[in-house]
Amino acid sequence: MVASSGTIVAPVSSPRNPGSQSSLREANRARIVDAITHHGALTQVELAAVTGLSPATVSNIVKEQAAAGVLATTPTSRSGRRAVRVTLAREMGLVVGLHVSNRQLRVALADAGHQVLVERMLPLARDHRADSELDRVVLLIQDMAESVGTGLDEVLAVGVGLAAPIDPGTGLIATRGLMRGWDGVPVADELETRLRRPVFVDNEANLGALGEYRMGAAQGVRQAAYLRVSHGVGAGLIIDGRVYRGGSGKAGEIGHLTLDEQGQVCRCGNRGCLETLVGAAALAAKFPGSHTQVKLRDIVLRANAGDAAARRVIADAGRHLGVALAGLSNLVDPHRIVVGGELAEADEMLLSPLRHALERSTLATASGVPDVVKGELGERAEVLGAVLYAIDLAHITAGRPSDAARTTGPYPMGIAGPRISGIVPDLAPENAPDRGGLAS
Ligand SMILES: [Zn+2]
Repeated sequence: MVASSGTIVAPVSSPRNPGSQSSLREANRARIVDAITHHGALTQVELAAVTGLSPATVSNIVKEQAAAGVLATTPTSRSGRRAVRVTLAREMGLVVGLHVSNRQLRVALADAGHQVLVERMLPLARDHRADSELDRVVLLIQDMAESVGTGLDEVLAVGVGLAAPIDPGTGLIATRGLMRGWDGVPVADELETRLRRPVFVDNEANLGALGEYRMGAAQGVRQAAYLRVSHGVGAGLIIDGRVYRGGSGKAGEIGHLTLDEQGQVCRCGNRGCLETLVGAAALAAKFPGSHTQVKLRDIVLRANAGDAAARRVIADAGRHLGVALAGLSNLVDPHRIVVGGELAEADEMLLSPLRHALERSTLATASGVPDVVKGELGERAEVLGAVLYAIDLAHITAGRPSDAARTTGPYPMGIAGPRISGIVPDLAPENAPDRGGLAS
């Protein structure tokens, strides 16, 4: 199903006959499959709520698509009542999520129903380079696929999160110097050549935001920001229920917001960025004689054990972050800010001073200030966002009853739609159903 260029083509064509009964039914099938692709598992009652279709229509289409091998159903219960849980069938294929941050790499192999089958994490050397790491990633993905009894040919798409802004036009890292060994490397093309699968690249904080919006602490909040505080600092913005990337891919680069015009020179080349105050290197340097040997995890562990200096360093970081988030709050006005990354493990030691500084510096409105919460997905937010990104861009489509019998390929139905290399600016469809109000 994948041509040598990595282009996905639909195995069967879908003739359209606008206005007819069959085209209405086809549209309804697509709504159901899109809803499951977007939300993961839903009960039939939830499916009726998000699609606006009648319970009888949902039930008929689910039955038909289960028989065609597109959907899978399992009995479950909701509020003590019997229900039918609907997911995409495992046979629809797999996706890979890859997160390459500054000091570690995480890969998840998942099915199209959002279920992670196997996940691996590897530490990265300080000056890791794209060519050798991409070679390692390919071996790792092959090994992971084998461990669940399958191969690369079952992978529909690969989503990749990198620790730098990605230019939506070129798919390259938009700002040089933030991931030195990866500058100028067309990561999507390089990985596609090695894997012969479609690859889509985005910024890590955008994918973290997508993960928390669809599966974590920002569910149902259509105006939200995700702050990632790890080796570097970045933010992902959810505006009207969609990831907002800006014109050149740098939207949400809060780590490089100038907080002190006379401050230290940052790795981006500017002076006094937020990251020069709260990045991992800046925090480590605050411990006398330690230089950059102290890791973020150690600082959090020390603070949790009651070390006064570590607690103070984290509280100061919270205050700086709160001031920067006050600016972000005035500009994009999120209802909720989700804090993730390694430093979020400090919980209220970080969040309480952060909230205090945010409240003091942001413009007060009648509805108050944004709600600040810790992420629910922890260090997996980005890799899970990468999985969702891959599922969204694999364009999984519904099948007509006759398709299953005619198709001989590995996928009973099709993956269709335009092949877009690198990055796709708008992820969720305009009318994507909101997660709010659904039982999880
Ligand atoms: Zn900077």
